Amino acid sequence: MTVAIVGGGPAGLSAALFTAKNGLDTLVFDTDTTWLHSAYLLNYLGIEGIDGDEFLEVARRQANTYGADRHQREEVTDIEPADEGFIVKTDRDEYDVKYVVLATGQSRDLAGSLGCEFNENGTVRVDENNETTIENVYAAGWIARKDKIQVAISVGMGSSAGLDILSKERGRSFRDFDTAENAE
Ligand SMILES: Cc1cc2nc3c(=O)[nH]c(=O)nc-3n(C[C@H](O)[C@H](O)[C@H](O)COP(=O)(O)OP(=O)(O)OC[C@H]3O[C@@H](n4cnc5c(N)ncnc54)[C@H](O)[C@@H]3O)c2cc1C
Repeated sequence: MTVAIVGGGPAGLSAALFTAKNGLDTLVFDTDTTWLHSAYLLNYLGIEGIDGDEFLEVARRQANTYGADRHQREEVTDIEPADEGFIVKTDRDEYDVKYVVLATGQSRDLAGSLGCEFNENGTVRVDENNETTIENVYAAGWIARKDKIQVAISVGMGSSAGLDILSKERGRSFRDFDTAENAE
């Protein structure tokens, strides 16, 4: 059972952190054009100020720590429905996966070619768990918001998608709650 995350910005890495940390095979494909490279964050709660590149470095390291399989600079070129999920095609290979998280920022082409429904403002339509109108396909971050987008919002949307995938796999509403004792 594999989760494919397309996009390694804040939305994609957040989804990856949740699914990898909780034992799901997680692939992250990223062409690395995230706007984080241009940002300096003064508005991310809990961090007083951090350069976007440094934030990205920490986020990637967190995803790596929990075993996310990051395919940096590998572009997803197509996604096709298959018998038990989807075939993710890249400029290098093909992957059979059960879930897809689209976290491609302002690029919405893959969502369109896969057949996801769009809102009138051009964003990908999602429910409260960030699932699109196609079962087991999620859209998180800028792809699902027109304006009023921030790193904190993308991170939240990615974690929402990750939690819903985990809930489906576990057959119950899943919470990723840690305490100081189990974090040691
Ligand atoms: C100049 C500037 C300054 C900003 N400053 C702030 C700030 O101070 N605070 C703040 O909260 N927000 C800031 N933002 C906004 C912030 O950058 C975005 O909210 C955030 O990056 C959106 O995250 P995302 O994960 O949705 O998309 P992105 O960060 O755009 O990430 C999408 C990723 O998907 C990859 N991708 C796309 N298509 C494919 C594909 N087919 N295959 C593989 N990979 C793919 C891209 O290469 C990219 O790396 C700023 C934005 C800009 C432009």
